[in-house]
Amino acid sequence: MGLIVQKYGGTSVGSIERIQAVAQKVKATQEKGHQVVVVVSAMSGETNRLIALAHEIGTSPAPREMDVLLSTGEQVTIALLCMALHKIGASARSYTGSQVQILTDNAHSKARIRGIDGVRVSGDLQAGRIVVIAGFQGVDDQGNITTLGRGGSDTTAVAMAAALKAQECQIFTDVDGVYTTDPRVEPKARKLDRITFEEMLEMASLGSKVLQIRAVEFAGKYNVPLRVLSSFEEGEGTLITFEDEGMEEAKISGIAFNRDEAKLTILGVPDEPGVAYSILGPVSNANIEVDMIIQNIAEDDTTDFTFTVHRNDYPQALEILKETSSILGAREVSGNEYIVKLSLVGVGMRSHSGIASTMFEALAREGINILMISTSEIKISVVIDEKYLELGVRALHDAFNLAGELPV
Ligand code: ADP
Ligand code: ASP
Ligand code: MG
Repeated sequence: MGLIVQKYGGTSVGSIERIQAVAQKVKATQEKGHQVVVVVSAMSGETNRLIALAHEIGTSPAPREMDVLLSTGEQVTIALLCMALHKIGASARSYTGSQVQILTDNAHSKARIRGIDGVRVSGDLQAGRIVVIAGFQGVDDQGNITTLGRGGSDTTAVAMAAALKAQECQIFTDVDGVYTTDPRVEPKARKLDRITFEEMLEMASLGSKVLQIRAVEFAGKYNVPLRVLSSFEEGEGTLITFEDEGMEEAKISGIAFNRDEAKLTILGVPDEPGVAYSILGPVSNANIEVDMIIQNIAEDDTTDFTFTVHRNDYPQALEILKETSSILGAREVSGNEYIVKLSLVGVGMRSHSGIASTMFEALAREGINILMISTSEIKISVVIDEKYLELGVRALHDAFNLAGELPV
């Protein structure tokens, strides 16, 4: 029997009772003959509570100190889970990210894992102990505590599974698998038994927060067998697979959405070489990531240029754009932070030209205006007004018959 890495998210460890229930599940896994490494998140709401405390002090907190603060959430959970395991007679030890030596770069709040020293963990496993590791955190080569970005415990779990060559990495959460869309928005969403890495990567990158995107990337890179399951119900969950073979027939795997977007437009800029660079250069110099970009066809000798950024970056991006506007002699700058991106994802899109028109027709029928469109081989994304998000998700879910068993 091989090694299993299990990760339990915030809701799954949200109270002492739930931590005790997790302890039972972990012990049962060990009793089946597996070695077990457990990665846990902070108790639900804790990371948000810590962020709010920091903001009470005002000004923008130093990223280094922010990471010291946020990493405490997970440290509480590892200790409590070990105590719960001890109480039921299991042998277990907890480790923070820096104790394990989850080595990262020094990009505070969004650090990337560079390497893991599994020696200590392997020693414990060999001695028959359950190893409990704090998710979401690591340490840079100067010994500073770092964090891996919101939802980062998923990535800790997958990285541990890769480093220890685990048989499977199991992500236990508050839903029983990956659905065709967020089941909290569309109650008719259907659980998928399997999804390909490619599709899961696309869903995660387009906003499906059930798995952190870096966790999926990591799993793909190191071939880590990954499964999403419920902490509260028995079941097989959803397996993230490497091959298309034996996949469900559906050509569309799901609908993802991202509420964190904002849109900016600069109107009446000269239509000449270098204009895109003059507009986006200063934005990227400020470390603001740009997502979708549209440049209109020029009517006279001027054109309009629109792009989207993360909503948190909106105020700064607007300031930068106003400066650019006066340098370029543009007519006007405008923006909208009440927009969302809605995406249809599926490998079937490669060969089906009718999919885009079905999508636009479904949105039109509900009177939803499309503000921007972007396509790739396996996704079509539209930007729409925030108030139409739920309606849009459900309209697309129906239009592509995602609740049914029939192939689209
Ligand atoms: P955890 O705290 O366990 O990490 P998250 O809140 O990060 O849990 O992720 C689980 C949530 O992801 C679900 O409660 C669900 O609302 C949301 N979600 C978004 N898209 C999907 C999807 N396609 N399938 C399942 N859950 C999804
Ligand atoms: N506690 C962190 C967060 O809330 C990491 C995680 O739960 O994965 O984002
Ligand atoms: Mg999560």
